[in-house]
Amino acid sequence: MKAAPAAQKRLLDLAELDSALDRLAHRRRTLPELAQIDELSARVARIAPQVIAAETESGDLAREQTKAEADVDSVRIRAERDQKRLDSGQVSSPKDLASLQSEIASLTRRQGDLEDVVLEIMERREAADAQVAKLVAERDELTGTRGVAEDRRDAVFAEIDKEKDEVQRRRAEVEKDIPADLLALYGKLREQFGVGAAMLQGGRCLGCRTSLSIAEINRIKAASHDEVIRCEECRRILVRTAESGL
Ligand SMILES: [Zn+2]
Repeated sequence: MKAAPAAQKRLLDLAELDSALDRLAHRRRTLPELAQIDELSARVARIAPQVIAAETESGDLAREQTKAEADVDSVRIRAERDQKRLDSGQVSSPKDLASLQSEIASLTRRQGDLEDVVLEIMERREAADAQVAKLVAERDELTGTRGVAEDRRDAVFAEIDKEKDEVQRRRAEVEKDIPADLLALYGKLREQFGVGAAMLQGGRCLGCRTSLSIAEINRIKAASHDEVIRCEECRRILVRTAESGL
């Protein structure tokens, strides 16, 4: 392949811009915020079912309390009704009076027992509500911290993307100076090796840092200026400049 020396030198500018793009992509991929967000999301995911379980327990206890309070009410209403009958003086037979008084006493005891049940449920419900509040606060703190990390990530992403746009704009300019076949070869080598072209500096390939043999140097010296040279060691395009030591 042949290409004007000036076009070959432009490959070095292209390689430099491509390295900048690689660095930006690497920075985007390895942003510490990404790992932090993943970790926080995992913790939020772990706590979510715990919140649901605690809320379910609290809801169950609330229903249990309503039912127990209704039981207290129904016993209290029966006792009040009996008390009214007793107070009305309509019941006159001593046997009926005794039976009514005994029922009132029994209902009063029953009401007391049921009120104890309500109190016990209320205590359990209080503990369950406290657990809900604790877990919700923990979850909210995690999502809050994650939100801050996401904002930081987005800010850095925007910065990186802006820089990337600028590098790509400059890259498009450089590409204009390079013939299509040379550009295609460079692209293929970049895909294969990460870097498609390297400078020959002081008899050394800067792509693989190998010092070329005397025979190799002589072969390059003998080649015409527009010949596209490849490094024998790393196969990259070797660009000759004033610093090449030829
Ligand atoms: Zn090399």
